[in-house]
Amino acid sequence: MPELPEVESVKNGLKQLVVGKSITETRVYWDNIIKNPSVSEFKRRTTGQIITDIKRRGKFLLFILDSDILISHLRMEGKYRLENRDEPLTKHTHVVFELDNIKELRYLDVRKFGKMSLVKKGKLKDHPSIINLGPEPTDEALTVSHLVKALEKTGRPIKACLLDQTIVAGIGNIYADEILYDAYIHPEKKGKELEYDEICRLRESIIKIIRCAVENGGTTIRTYSNAYGTEGSYQTYLSVYGKTNEKCSRCRNTIEKIKVAQRGTHYCPNCQKM
Ligand SMILES: [Zn+2]
Repeated sequence: MPELPEVESVKNGLKQLVVGKSITETRVYWDNIIKNPSVSEFKRRTTGQIITDIKRRGKFLLFILDSDILISHLRMEGKYRLENRDEPLTKHTHVVFELDNIKELRYLDVRKFGKMSLVKKGKLKDHPSIINLGPEPTDEALTVSHLVKALEKTGRPIKACLLDQTIVAGIGNIYADEILYDAYIHPEKKGKELEYDEICRLRESIIKIIRCAVENGGTTIRTYSNAYGTEGSYQTYLSVYGKTNEKCSRCRNTIEKIKVAQRGTHYCPNCQKM
């Protein structure tokens, strides 16, 4: 599943391809991708609008149109492709935005888990997908006091807290493991058990790992490529994710994989003690 750095990479690729173009027709081939409004209203409202910008919030792509914002979540395997109109659709092409030239912006999704919503400009903050999102994992947005407040009463393991989009937006399974390793925190440690200095360290690791992953275009596991078809290179920086039974680069202990919050979790039992 694409996490913040991969969605950021998709956003940057798409921006250069479609900003300034207008949608001359919207076609939907798999209705369940459209969460709200109705499919007919979605098609009618998007048609005729110009894509003026593309932004990101957490793992959501935000297509800024003239009067609406199209909120798109790629979930497991959703991807956008800019293709020529005469290029045949595949069975995985579910939504097509015809643009004002020979090109179409096509949404493909093998698993069909992705979702799109349309919201009036100015109403974005109140949209159910957006309203409960925690701060972005940046130095400016993510404060120690926010993390202290979010963690001080929870008995959930810290790994589950990092995956909780209401605590910090954009982190998924890969970066949660990398962040906890970087911060020397055991993934099963309860939120309320973290000392103040551990929370400070966790915040630093969140910001550092996500920034570095963004700078490297995200992580390419199997074949996840952005709108350009280019691939991120952060996989060469991974310390624990996918490294089960390999040696920890800090202490030479063996990296282990356990289940935390129903998710495969990689950690170094020597560096990340309970
Ligand atoms: Zn270690």
